[in-house]
Amino acid sequence: MSGDPGNRSCVEFQAHLPELIGSGEDVANHPHMQTCELCRALLADLETIAEAARQLFPIVEPPDEVWQHIESAIKGESAAATARNSAKRA
Ligand SMILES: [Zn+2]
Repeated sequence: MSGDPGNRSCVEFQAHLPELIGSGEDVANHPHMQTCELCRALLADLETIAEAARQLFPIVEPPDEVWQHIESAIKGESAAATARNSAKRA
């Protein structure tokens, strides 16, 4: 019994990390976080990236309207002008 269980649980923990975050789990309070500085740093990095992504892409799924404008834009020049005007809000 002279293995390195700490290191092994890091690998396992990080493998489940996306799942944990995706399920809304309070990852910062995960038992592994209390004992592992490496994974705390990793989570901090992930949160920084996630925060930056939220600011860059505040709307994940564009409303149907946008796609309709894009579709008309493909079909005609005048429709393209309309789409350009309505898309101009960011
Ligand atoms: Zn760890």
